[in-house]
Amino acid sequence: MDSTIKDFIMTHELFSYHDHHITFAEFEKKRASYSHKAFLGYAGSDLVTAAGPRSSGYINDDARLEALWPSIRTTGYGRAVVSGCKELFGIEYTPMNFARITEILQATIADKSAAEVYDYFIKEKANIRWVVQDGLFRPENEEALQTNLYPNYYKFAVRMDDLFAIADNGPLEILERFTNIAILSLERLITALNTTINMFRDTGRMGAFKIGIAYKRDLIVSDPTRNETEQAFNRIRDRKAFYNGSQQNTAAVNQHEARALSDYMLHRLLERADDENIPVQVHTGYLAGNWCSLAGSKALFLIPLFEKYRRVRFDIFHGSWPWTSELGAIAKNYPNVYPDLCWAWAMNPTETERTLSEWLDGVPFNKIFAFGADTGLPWLDVGYAIQARHGIARVMQKKVQDGIFSKSTAEEVASAIMLKNGEQFYGLV
Ligand SMILES: [Zn+2]
Repeated sequence: MDSTIKDFIMTHELFSYHDHHITFAEFEKKRASYSHKAFLGYAGSDLVTAAGPRSSGYINDDARLEALWPSIRTTGYGRAVVSGCKELFGIEYTPMNFARITEILQATIADKSAAEVYDYFIKEKANIRWVVQDGLFRPENEEALQTNLYPNYYKFAVRMDDLFAIADNGPLEILERFTNIAILSLERLITALNTTINMFRDTGRMGAFKIGIAYKRDLIVSDPTRNETEQAFNRIRDRKAFYNGSQQNTAAVNQHEARALSDYMLHRLLERADDENIPVQVHTGYLAGNWCSLAGSKALFLIPLFEKYRRVRFDIFHGSWPWTSELGAIAKNYPNVYPDLCWAWAMNPTETERTLSEWLDGVPFNKIFAFGADTGLPWLDVGYAIQARHGIARVMQKKVQDGIFSKSTAEEVASAIMLKNGEQFYGLV
């Protein structure tokens, strides 16, 4: 009986709530360069960790990769590389096979257009039906409105983190260029924000707003007054004015001084989400890379926003790992919070299994989102999807073994968290 549940999950389609896939054009540009190293994905960060504090930066030479790979092949990041490679090419990801892996990867993509490459890896091999992509819909991106650079089963998340962690007039200049509105006052900045959103919305492919500010600041969002905000705006906008006797033409203003403007604009974004019922994705918890400060990133800090914007639907990323239990309790309490395990299966499969099991005991299953590969290259989705499916299958098997779920309940729950909840949430059915 259990093996059937496993089969059901291993062959079930997924909704990828979060990915950063590069455009067809970027893929074409780099096509010839993809090698065994293009399989590492997030594992690159574990290599840096394994190398210790006196190593220099990113590991991009084969000698260091070969030396460090054995120590990271056991982590979630490492195991996803191994299972992706095995599933696609039938061989082990080991230094001995690196040349062969490059050869097969190149042969696999050789006779395919970029669109066919994406269909092959995302649809056929990772069995993903929908993708919400984060990367295209950014006002600083010159190709921002070219949705034809992706398959038609992609929706896009609008992201403007620099504006919400503003420290100089860079983000204002970007919005001026994008909207052709001269941002001469706070009022006009708000107009430019809304015009930017309109431009993305009018493509018909906008899926959500994405707030990724945890990479730049803490998630504590105050409610500044108009007066405080205008002071901050003027300080940033009018650089030629003298402040305390000095004229600062370069570099950032004091970020603390600018914070009121960041927070104020975040509230304007959330008002817009409320007005048009646009989902809001928020990065919480662990931060990609190395040397990242986690201290300000937990979902708990967002409670004032959940409280204020009761009609806004929040898709809260990465299980807020390592604070996954906290997010489970928040999601149980707040009807507007949807806890999401995108990327979590890659970071720590064991803790994510425990988390899913816990959440299912506390949170109605129509609110839980199970997966997002969160990666740049389409073949990496395969390993991350397998790892997630294995984890989901183990959780469901255990619930059935313990007599908590019947087999049909386990299937109903798996279908919901893997696909149907996302289709409903993002209005795709
Ligand atoms: Zn991401």
